[in-house]
Amino acid sequence: MTANISLSQGRAYTAIPGPSVIPDQVLQAMHRPAPNIYAGELVELTHSLIPDLAAVARTSGKTAIYIGNGHAAWEAALANTIAPGEKVLVPATGRFGHGWADIAHGLGAETEIIDFGKSDPWDADRIADALRADTAHSIKAVLAVHVDTSSSVRNDVPALRRVLDDLGHPALLMADCIASLGCDRFEMDAWGVDVTVTGCQKGLMVPPGMSFVFFNEKAQAKRSTMPRVSRYWDWIPRADPQEYYQHFAGTAPTQHIYGLRCALDMIHAEGIEHVWARHERLAQAIWAACDVWGSEGPLQLNVTDPENRSCAVTALRIGAPHGTALRNWTETNLGLTLGIGLGMAAPDDPEWHGFLRLGHMGHVNGQMIMAVLGGMEAGMAALNIPRGRGAVEAAAAVLAGA
Ligand SMILES: *Cc1c(COP(=O)(O)O)cnc(C)c1O
Repeated sequence: MTANISLSQGRAYTAIPGPSVIPDQVLQAMHRPAPNIYAGELVELTHSLIPDLAAVARTSGKTAIYIGNGHAAWEAALANTIAPGEKVLVPATGRFGHGWADIAHGLGAETEIIDFGKSDPWDADRIADALRADTAHSIKAVLAVHVDTSSSVRNDVPALRRVLDDLGHPALLMADCIASLGCDRFEMDAWGVDVTVTGCQKGLMVPPGMSFVFFNEKAQAKRSTMPRVSRYWDWIPRADPQEYYQHFAGTAPTQHIYGLRCALDMIHAEGIEHVWARHERLAQAIWAACDVWGSEGPLQLNVTDPENRSCAVTALRIGAPHGTALRNWTETNLGLTLGIGLGMAAPDDPEWHGFLRLGHMGHVNGQMIMAVLGGMEAGMAALNIPRGRGAVEAAAAVLAGA
């Protein structure tokens, strides 16, 4: 037997939590010469995106499109609603909560962060305590990350709405659904979310470059009280343009519009409820495999309670140097790229090499998940990482419905 030949030729698979796998149909839809940006198909296509995006977010509110990544949507949501000196409350359950707070700080907001660590969801009682103490209602928004992609913690957004309602606190409820939209169940209006931010490169299956802010009338009322909003971030002309260019405050993201149109068609053909159920079943297969591996080895799911786990991304702890070694091995030998751990340890800390993440968002199916798990099994075998036996079988049983 030849131990050291690489088996990485063939179609590569990047199983990182964003950017996600781009469907061939989306790539093909984008592969075209520059279209007219003043009239015709592109204008109609753009208009057609709005109701379909809103349907994925489950809102009858307004939609503003930005040419930018998730950080742009973070900034856009705040630039329209939070004036310098106003306060925001951030229940952080991983790196991304802190990231959104940083953006708020940069815009001159006062930030109050409640840090729930790197493996636990937020605790609604502690958030309630902070809001109860704010008798002057100086907190103008709660910045809630639905799924924190660094920890793979999924938070209970409706519980946060109940806390605000029970206390009669008027703060806006803003949700970051960048990782979760089109993967984990999310229902903006039914859950009482005032502002939702998301990006196109995760559950929406399009290359990075577009992001979206959905907002309701309560958020628009807060927008109306703002002393000023930068022209570029202002969501009013983007959501209600008088001229086509105002959708984007400039040139349209031409190829992205075609790609997103195609991706939304795919989501609507499958049905959003089915999309959520598919992600849930695939995630359960991953968790089943990880439970078996972890029964006799160092690999552990970062989030203990399945109720608090995202169905889009899975953060794993495996101990240094196994995380980096496994990622390197599967990429070099199998053409399978696993995600780095994020926010768990500083990059210059040896512990940094003890984490990894699996992205399973968007265009993923059963055979892709089995390939990831089988590839990890091969890597752990090659690297002599201790593990329980039967992990791939356990995942197969989940997919078989057994
Ligand atoms: C990916 C992600 C972001 C950041 O998006 P960028 O496109 O990298 O700017 C923010 N929040 C969450 C939850 C994410 O998953």
